Amino acid sequence: MRTRLILSYVLISLATLCVIFVYLHHSLKQMSDEQMVSELDMKARAFSEYLSNTLPTNFSYRTVDELVDKLDTENFVRITVIDPAGSVWGDTAYDGDALKEMDNLQDRPEIQSALARSRGDATRYSDIHDTEMRYFAIPLLRENQLIGVCRVAQPVHRKDGLVKRFESIFILAAVIGLASTLVLGLIAAKIITSPIHRFLRTAKLIADGRVSMQVSNNSADELGRLTRHFSQMADRVKHQIQEISQERDRLEAILANMVEGVLLIDEEFAIVYANPAAVLMLDLTAEYRGHPLIETIRDPRLQELLTKSRDTRESAFAELKLAGSIERETEITAVPVVDEYLVVIHDVSQLRKLERVRVDFVTNVSHEIRTPLTSIQGFAETLLTGALDDSNTNRRFVEKIFQQSSELSQLVTDLLDLSRLESGMATLSLESCELGGFRAPLMNLFGPVFDDAKLIFDWEVPDDLPPVLVDKRLLEHAFANLIDNAIKYTPPGGKITVSAGTSESEVIVHTRDTGVGIPSDMLPRIFERFYRVDKARSSEVRGTGLGLAIAKHILLQHDGRIWAESVLGEGSVFHFALPVQQIETTVRHEGTAP
Ligand code: ADP
Repeated sequence: MRTRLILSYVLISLATLCVIFVYLHHSLKQMSDEQMVSELDMKARAFSEYLSNTLPTNFSYRTVDELVDKLDTENFVRITVIDPAGSVWGDTAYDGDALKEMDNLQDRPEIQSALARSRGDATRYSDIHDTEMRYFAIPLLRENQLIGVCRVAQPVHRKDGLVKRFESIFILAAVIGLASTLVLGLIAAKIITSPIHRFLRTAKLIADGRVSMQVSNNSADELGRLTRHFSQMADRVKHQIQEISQERDRLEAILANMVEGVLLIDEEFAIVYANPAAVLMLDLTAEYRGHPLIETIRDPRLQELLTKSRDTRESAFAELKLAGSIERETEITAVPVVDEYLVVIHDVSQLRKLERVRVDFVTNVSHEIRTPLTSIQGFAETLLTGALDDSNTNRRFVEKIFQQSSELSQLVTDLLDLSRLESGMATLSLESCELGGFRAPLMNLFGPVFDDAKLIFDWEVPDDLPPVLVDKRLLEHAFANLIDNAIKYTPPGGKITVSAGTSESEVIVHTRDTGVGIPSDMLPRIFERFYRVDKARSSEVRGTGLGLAIAKHILLQHDGRIWAESVLGEGSVFHFALPVQQIETTVRHEGTAP
């Protein structure tokens, strides 16, 4: 740009100089020509006057030529005097015989013009002088009688001297002018282009992504305005990029934290995008992009779903079971979005499981309630139909009714406890407790039972265990359920041991029995509501199937955990762990405890 500017300055100057040169050159030439003509005119008139005064009445060639030659030496011009018929009388360039042999000059334009219009001039090449000559002629008169023509001539180059000087001066001035133009042009170009260069550098930085760059130019010219507009534009672009990035981050955060799997599928049904939930649900590898969806979810119903959505241009819905590392029950919605499809996968496995659990629960509750109710109804009916008066049976029947209604009451109590715990509505009255403190209430509860069942009970809980922060009544309940089970499922002569220890951050309690044990495949399920290992066996033993579920929820409420180990026929161990009470935890809980 700088070079182009300088070049244009030089070219403009050169063109201007050329125009000035041509004009001045032409004018100067014209001026010097006019000056030469007027000089020749002056000289011709002076010579003709001199000649008409000086020439004798009867003059000859010789007289004229002598006079003419004399004039020439004084005036540095060629002078020719001819008679009206064109014969040369005298000439400064010729003498003697040469003069006599000279051509008749009557046909020369300047002579003809001088004879016709009293003056004539012409320019032509002269063989004698071997140069371009300027001729000027006037009539030679004496007492108003034409006696001949006086012609003066000068080489044209005499007038060119001035022009030549002008040319050399002009060339020198032009060189100085061009040099100054070059220097000034350089300075001007630098002044003009440096803000542009600055601007370009900044524009490049902006183009490279560093949009925060600002260009400062406060000038009021076009460049200043352009710079300010550019700055505003860069600002706006930066602002928009920020907004887009924020929007993208927000969208990414939403997609990343969505529980639903989201897939973007192209028109060829290949995966374009999958959010983390979808990657997890479909076991997608890192190179999932571009893979046909059918290769990932090998279920033709999904292809049908997408095809339906493509054909109708409306969203389509299906319930599918996805077989992956984990089998999932899903609800899948495909929505057409321009040329692509948005597939939303909703994992409803948990929901379905809960629905099944709810149905099972209702069935179980109904079943558990119906059994004692039927029994009560049966005994009451028998009593009413006559047994009431039979003193041998009426007391036994009433006792049965009492026992069944007690079991029913126990079931309802357990159900209420469980529902309170599960719903999180149970309010914990937390207090710092030593585990040793649970021995006395448990012995109050089960002491006579151990004797009746002929069981040995061993309490091996060390005294130096760290305290735990628990709801005493609830933990006693969990403890009681475990010991009650141990009693129920241990034959007479068996032994029940309660021991405890600590790990890094927990106090762990073990309730060991030498009872019937639990089959290993059933161990994971015994903490489910109403789950009883062997219905036939359990039916002989009282129970609701809710004891372990209640114990589990009590422990969960205390941030604890419960698990079991068992060897069939040898006995079972139920472990539960509670977090060791921290000092600050104590303060917090004591502060918030009701
Ligand atoms: P239940 O009221 O039937 O005892 P639980 O929830 O307390 O209900 O126990 C669930 C099932 O786990 C019981 O039915 C029983 O089959 C099994 N179980 C629990 N504790 C023991 C144990 N100590 N020994 C053997 N089986 C046990």
